[in-house]
Amino acid sequence: MTGRRIRVQGTVQGVGFRPWVYRIARDAAVTGRVRNDSAGVTIEAFGAPAALDEFVDRLAHDAARPPAAVIDHMIEQPIAFEPAATFSIDASAVTAEAHVSIPPDLATCPACLSEIHDPADRRHRYPFTNCTACGPRFTIVRSAPYDRLATTMAAFAMCPACQREYASVDDRRFHAEPNACPVCGPRLDLRGADGRPLAAADAVTAAAQALQDGLIVALKGIGGFQLACDATSEDAVARLRARKHRDEKPFAVMVRTLADAETLADLGAPERTLLLSPERPIVLAARRAESGLAEAVAPGNPLVGVLLANSPLHDLLLEAAARPLVMTSGNVSDEPIVTGNTDALDRLRGVADLFVLHDREIVTRADDSVARVVAGRPVVLRRARGYVPRAIESPVAFEATVLACGAQLKNTFCYGRGTEAVLGPHIGDLDSVRVFRDYEAAIARLGQFLGVTPEIVAHDLHPDYLSTRYALGVNHGAVAVGVQHHHAHIASGMAEHGLRGPVLGLAFDGTGYGTDGGAWGGELLLADYAEFTRLATFRPLALPGGDMAIRQPWRTALAMIDDAFGGEAPIEGFPLFRRIAHADLDVVLRMVHRGFNTTPAHGVGRYFDAFGALLLGRPFASYEGQIAIELDGAADPAERGRYDYAIDQLPSPWQVDLRPAVRAAVFEFLGGEPAGRISARVHNTIAAVSVDLVRAGARGAGRLPVVLSGGCFQNARLAESILRGLQPEFTVHLHQRVPPGDGGLALGQAVVAAARARSL
Ligand SMILES: [Zn+2]
Ligand SMILES: [Zn+2]
Repeated sequence: MTGRRIRVQGTVQGVGFRPWVYRIARDAAVTGRVRNDSAGVTIEAFGAPAALDEFVDRLAHDAARPPAAVIDHMIEQPIAFEPAATFSIDASAVTAEAHVSIPPDLATCPACLSEIHDPADRRHRYPFTNCTACGPRFTIVRSAPYDRLATTMAAFAMCPACQREYASVDDRRFHAEPNACPVCGPRLDLRGADGRPLAAADAVTAAAQALQDGLIVALKGIGGFQLACDATSEDAVARLRARKHRDEKPFAVMVRTLADAETLADLGAPERTLLLSPERPIVLAARRAESGLAEAVAPGNPLVGVLLANSPLHDLLLEAAARPLVMTSGNVSDEPIVTGNTDALDRLRGVADLFVLHDREIVTRADDSVARVVAGRPVVLRRARGYVPRAIESPVAFEATVLACGAQLKNTFCYGRGTEAVLGPHIGDLDSVRVFRDYEAAIARLGQFLGVTPEIVAHDLHPDYLSTRYALGVNHGAVAVGVQHHHAHIASGMAEHGLRGPVLGLAFDGTGYGTDGGAWGGELLLADYAEFTRLATFRPLALPGGDMAIRQPWRTALAMIDDAFGGEAPIEGFPLFRRIAHADLDVVLRMVHRGFNTTPAHGVGRYFDAFGALLLGRPFASYEGQIAIELDGAADPAERGRYDYAIDQLPSPWQVDLRPAVRAAVFEFLGGEPAGRISARVHNTIAAVSVDLVRAGARGAGRLPVVLSGGCFQNARLAESILRGLQPEFTVHLHQRVPPGDGGLALGQAVVAAARARSL
């Protein structure tokens, strides 16, 4: 007989891990104990060596491991044998657990789903059913450590039946903190458009009827309110757009089953796995022509965002409504999602025709997460519900606690302590007062959960980002460290993949503030965590009117062809410019020629905007990246051709000159070549440029690992063709768990600041 201590790190708390350990220990005839502690879970196991081997093997490989549990590390050490009669789950010391992150919210598990559909079960049709493998977590916690009294379920006293489940180690609800049933748990509360209570035998049935009638229903979900309507009804979707003040940005569509999802979008195996994962993100996939969805769901967009029900309430509602539902955040334009009942009745008045409220409070808002598959692997594009606050193991140790404040748009923030980086939930664009207040509150709350006070505050170099101002203002004796935008992107990719550096990093996005005060965004960097060298960039495009050119990409298109044709832009042949008043064209041309009120921008994203506007005749963008997405969607997948370009290696940094490509594309377009083929060639050209840049960088720096980061790498076509060009000559890393866009920036800021702090 012998003993072993096994330390398990990863997502192992709040996911049913200890009861599962108990069960496999019992099956393997191993005695001892398991407990949560500050590092994760510690097991002390005693028995015959063969039994211990079997036990450890099942810990690592057992198929019945709780689906939300993720083991990052398992460290074994021999200990002296102790005669113990049984295997037990020891109470965790509060002090030890106080430093442990709160688990993320988990979608309803199959066992709970079958209970709510079983007429004989006591939880039949109960919308708040959950167990140790599923249910709300992060969004209902008020303080750490994670137990019932620290959650908004503290308001509900468990009935004897629930209490028995909670206390029984063999039950799937052993220590399921939000455990509830129709007798003792939260209840739905149906309200009319005016906020007055409505009497209905069943709130779910009434809401489903309203949806079938084309009405808009506000629904209290897991991370906040959502607005739902019939996704097959043009009228209902158009009404929702009008009331929400949202013009063309796509809506996500929720369905009940994978089979339902297959009718809407073309799904491969990785998309199916993502849809079914306990994180239940919105998955972007190619929309099927015969999807039956209203065109207004995602106008002009070849992709559709699909997600499966993530709570019993969603599942019951979809079953009763019997159709796909638009499921979008419950807010007006770009404000934070509403989380409180009173707030919902106030701020969503006039938007929703019916309110489905309930009395389980949401403490921390968490939007639905968004992911897509690129090169066969999932990439998280918006990281919120289901993923937050799961920690990312950092290759750079945080010797001092770091708070990284993130970007201005698609903001997330990040704490770093020890060897862990914890990204907060997607906050959104920091340009409204409400979003900014939400940002401050979310930073404070996550800091409190983690029990940390920042000693270093990392921020972007852009002086006008509100996150930068927050960082420089907050400063309670913390050291402020400015981190260049694209260096942060590359460092974020390095950290996610555990790279030590140096790397060759391609950072492609719309705009980021450079160390020279310029607008960068098409950069080849030679980078480690502390430092970077800007090896190459793109010849700048003039943005006439600055930021106005981002909403009106016809301006950039005009500047691009004007530059390529030496000030003689051939505007006559383009339908795009026929949609713009002559006077406006003249004004913008004069701005370009005189360099007046124009910003030179190096962003690859701006080139995609300009080509998109030109080829598709789209003068205006109603949301960021819209025209680039449409250009990608239009590209002919069979086309392999590309255009000429030059890389001028005389200046430092080198400069990519796309003027030959612009001229060739213009001649082809004017000669009647289909836009889809030109679009494909433009993409192929940027991919070829990227491969050449990396090879040129490697001639001086050696064949280093390559990191691709920045918002342009949400574009699967671009990322995949660069991968094809660089592999197997180079090892190339794309983002997976952290967004490639500005939503992942804070992680990079955190690790760069930590690395710099060491050399201070
Ligand atoms: Zn469950
Ligand atoms: Zn109960």
